[in-house]
Amino acid sequence: MDKQRQLSSLTLVVPFYNEQGGVQAFYQQACAALDALGLDYRFVFVDDGSTDDTLRLLNALADRDSRVSVLSLTRNFGHQAALTAGLDHADGEAVVTMDGDLQHPPSAIAEMVRAYEAGAEVVYAVRANEDHRSWAKKLTARVFYRLLRRLTQIDIISGAMDFRLMSRPAVESLRQMREKHRYLRGMVPWMGFSYQIVHYQEAERFADHSKYTWTKMLRLARYGFFSFSTGALDLITLLGLALTGLAMLYLIYALVVWAFFHETVPGWTSVIAVLLVVSGVQLISVGILAQYIGMIFEEVKGRPLYLLKQKRLAQDRPAEDRQDYETVSMPSGVGAPEG
Ligand code: UDP
Ligand code: MG
Repeated sequence: MDKQRQLSSLTLVVPFYNEQGGVQAFYQQACAALDALGLDYRFVFVDDGSTDDTLRLLNALADRDSRVSVLSLTRNFGHQAALTAGLDHADGEAVVTMDGDLQHPPSAIAEMVRAYEAGAEVVYAVRANEDHRSWAKKLTARVFYRLLRRLTQIDIISGAMDFRLMSRPAVESLRQMREKHRYLRGMVPWMGFSYQIVHYQEAERFADHSKYTWTKMLRLARYGFFSFSTGALDLITLLGLALTGLAMLYLIYALVVWAFFHETVPGWTSVIAVLLVVSGVQLISVGILAQYIGMIFEEVKGRPLYLLKQKRLAQDRPAEDRQDYETVSMPSGVGAPEG
C-alpha cells in the first residue's frame, strides 16, 4: 500500500458494560500497541450503565492519564448507543471503535492505520477465525448476513463487527445519522466512503462472559433487517397476491364442479386447512407491519439516543497532568463520578 497521507491523531472509542475484570488489561495493551505507532492518541471510554466497578476503574484511569475521556450513560442503553455516545465525543483525525474485552486486538490497529494512510476513509477489521464460536452463532450469522446483503443491496461486509477505523469526514457524516434503531454495521457501509479490509485473529474474551445475550443479538438483527429495508413489505404484498391467485383458481374449480357436475367439493379438512393457512399468513403480515409501525413510533418520539450521567472529556483538561500508563495502579476510592 502506498502512503498518501500521514495520520496525526487517533481516538479510540471503547464501550464497556460490566467489564471490571478487563478494563486495566485493555488500557495497558492498547497503550502498548499505540505507543509503538508513534502517533498522538486519545481514548473515549464509554460506561454503558455498568453495575459493577467498571466506571470507577475508568475514572481512575482518567485521573492518571489526561488522554482518557470517560462518558457514563445513565443506564444500559446497549452497545450501539454506547458506541454512538463515544463517536459523538471523539475528536482526532481518525477514530477507531472497538470492544473493550480484548477480543478486538489493539495490535491490529497498526494495519488499520496503514490502510487509512494509503487513502481509505473507512477500514473494516474482519475476523479471520471463528473457531471458538458456537455452531449456532456461526450459522445464524452466515444466513443473516447473506439475507441482509441481498435485501438491502448495501455492501455489508460479513464478519465485520464494530471494529473499524473511520476518517474525520466519515465520523462527521455518521454523527448526522440519528436514527433510533441503530445498526452501525449497515449504517457505515451505507455512507459509501471508500474502504479497505484488514484481517485480525479474534482472541477469547479476556475476562468475564459475553454481554450480548441472544435477546440483544436478536434485537440487533431485527434492527438491521427492518430498518435497512422495506423488503419485508414487498414480501407480504407478493404473498397476498400469490394467495389471492390461488384462491381464484380454487374458486373457479369449485364453481365448475358445482355448475357441471352438480356437486359441492366436500370436506371439513379443506375448509380448515385454508382457514389456518390464510389466518397464519395474515398474522405474519400484520406482525411485519407492526415492526415498521413500532419503529416509526420510536422515531417520532424523537428522544435522545442515550443520556449521560457523566461527561469527562480529555480535551477539557490540560496536557501537563499526563502520565505514563505504567504508573497507573488502581487505588480504591479514587475516581468518583463528577458532574
Ligand atoms: N457492551 C456494551 N453494552 C451492552 C453489551 C455490550 O457496551 O449492552 C460492550 C461490551 O462491554 C464489550 C462490547 O460491547 O466491550 C462487545 O460486547 P461482548 O464482548 O459482550 O459481545 P460479543 O463479543 O459476544 O459479540
Ligand atoms: Mg466480545
